[in-house]
Amino acid sequence: MSHFFSEKYKELVPYTPGEQPKNREYIKLNTNESPFPPSKKAQKALREEGKRLQLYSDPECQDLVKEAAKYYGVSPEEIIFTNGSDEVLNFAMMAYCDKKSPVVFPDITYGFYTVFARLNDIAYREIPLKEDFRIDLDDYIGCDQTIFLANPNAPTGLALSLKQIEKIVKSNRKSIVVIDEAYVDFGGESAVKLIHKYPNLLVTQTFSKSRSMAGARLGVGIACKEIIQDLNTIKYSTNPYNVNRMTMAAGVGSLKDDFYFKRNCKKIIKNREWLTKELEQLGFTVLDSKANFVFAKHKELPGATLYQSLKEKGILVRYFDKERLRDYNRITIGNKKEMEILVQTISNILKEKI
Ligand SMILES: *Cc1c(COP(=O)(O)O)cnc(C)c1O
Repeated sequence: MSHFFSEKYKELVPYTPGEQPKNREYIKLNTNESPFPPSKKAQKALREEGKRLQLYSDPECQDLVKEAAKYYGVSPEEIIFTNGSDEVLNFAMMAYCDKKSPVVFPDITYGFYTVFARLNDIAYREIPLKEDFRIDLDDYIGCDQTIFLANPNAPTGLALSLKQIEKIVKSNRKSIVVIDEAYVDFGGESAVKLIHKYPNLLVTQTFSKSRSMAGARLGVGIACKEIIQDLNTIKYSTNPYNVNRMTMAAGVGSLKDDFYFKRNCKKIIKNREWLTKELEQLGFTVLDSKANFVFAKHKELPGATLYQSLKEKGILVRYFDKERLRDYNRITIGNKKEMEILVQTISNILKEKI
């Protein structure tokens, strides 16, 4: 840290992204990326768009918004696109929370929520998940504070039903409820259809996971037009060109290739179900995931040992050195081949270690 660094950021602990080691080729099951390439339509569109990079991108993202409005069944004024969904989550915190208006979220959830709160000097309250890692609905009913919920949640993969989400939104009409649906395409129920009924609901999604575009950085917020206006005020005060031309073109291509998108989601769900069964047979407890990862612990092998042994054998998974999470590993669902190698490798490790 230089001695010029502002007082207000000195205590900031930044988000730790999953490791991306370059020393060897790993099977990467640690950052919830897709094992499949982006849609061919997305790839072609972005190559074409490369010819126009001398021009600024469209701050209104009109082509993309038009396509997304069709896909989500909402109107264009109810959509904002951002540089990854991390950005729309940050905008929402900036727009609706401060020192006096705290944000609440579960103690075990996406790590960026605390980082954004601290970055913006926002008060936050973490509500403990129940013993089984589920959300206690009562904690969020009528709490009248801004709520951030990942649904399905990370790193557990557990999802609330649309009915449960609606109860929360309905009982907090004086505050914004943000539902982060980064993983919804893998078996969750989206709350997008509720935005016309509840002017306090903001739903966010990302093209990073189910649409195989993590490297492009594209996220979306869907809400009533007043909320979208608020978020645009923040966007136009930071970076109106937050979505670059190539990403925008690729996003349109992806939305136009619904068949490929749905087929990949189905494959992931199938591989998740297969992996879950295999892990259970090997003595693991696997939470009921609706995401593109599973959260699993072995009855005898500590989480850190499994993580380390897998890494030595060329497979990266995510381990959280944090209370309640230490027994577990979060394993991204890859293609069938990767899942087979993973199961074989774990089975070998178990033979060696116990
Ligand atoms: C991956 C993820 C995001 C954001 O991803 P972006 O790549 O910034 O779109 C948001 N929320 C959760 C819970 C995630 O896991």
